[in-house]
Amino acid sequence: MQISSLLDTLILVVAPKSPQDFVAKMIAVNVIVGFGFYLFEVWLHGGQTAYYLEHHVFGMLLFSAPLSCFGLAALGYLSKLRAELAHLATTDLLTGLNNRRAFMAAAELATSQSGGILMMLDLDHFKKINDTYGHTVGDDCLRAIADVLREQVRAEDIIGRLGGEEFGVFLVDAPLEAARHIGERLSAGAELSLAEADRVLNITASIGAVEMPEKDDLETVLTLADMAMYQAKDEGRARLVFWEKGVTARAMAASA
Ligand code: GH3
Ligand code: MG
Ligand code: MG
Repeated sequence: MQISSLLDTLILVVAPKSPQDFVAKMIAVNVIVGFGFYLFEVWLHGGQTAYYLEHHVFGMLLFSAPLSCFGLAALGYLSKLRAELAHLATTDLLTGLNNRRAFMAAAELATSQSGGILMMLDLDHFKKINDTYGHTVGDDCLRAIADVLREQVRAEDIIGRLGGEEFGVFLVDAPLEAARHIGERLSAGAELSLAEADRVLNITASIGAVEMPEKDDLETVLTLADMAMYQAKDEGRARLVFWEKGVTARAMAASA
């Protein structure tokens, strides 16, 4: 076992989770240290319990209590920092969804266990929303879309913001027809009320989807979903297009 994973386990197991847990662990650590010290005494001097209690226990506690208090507090702090770092490394801070890295890692893990449908969403004419209403309204739209994604997919599905105004959805083990329904609902996007402009903004999405069997390479499948998404743009946006061989042929012809 590596030192780092040993320390990780120590932080996970020993770091106090609440004030009560802190007190319980303080007592446990001091009892263990006290008992260890007592055994050491017996081994060294053949000491007796009464003698040990009378002469050593308070002296020992005087050192071990503040040291264990400091140690536990430090481990609690490290555990909090560790959780915050993990959150920052895996979360898109604007929407609270998985970031690209976390999405790919979670989807990769899911595909190693089961098949599913991978979808790539790109919001339609998003630049125009930013240009017309400003970046803050654009950010509100991204949050509104993130909420729609959370509402529309099942708890076991994986969603993430891949970057900019692009989102990824992996529907774990979903039947094709169910995925089609979800995708069509998602392409309708979200509505955002603009109080100051007294109007409702309709944000739609173009979606490329790929049915992926177990153990397919995710990056390759994402490229296919991207091609299908561009076909959805070509066909008029606000729709879902499933990848098929013809999509790749058309994309290659367009880029030639
Ligand atoms: P299309 O329908 O072809 O996708 O058009 P589009 O305008 O959505 O495409 P384009 O890629 O030209 O524009 C994407 C825009 O998304 C440009 C960029 O300013 C905006 N964008 C990217 N990230 C953010 C963000 O975090 N917040 C906001 N408000 N806008 C963002
Ligand atoms: Mg885009
Ligand atoms: Mg776009």
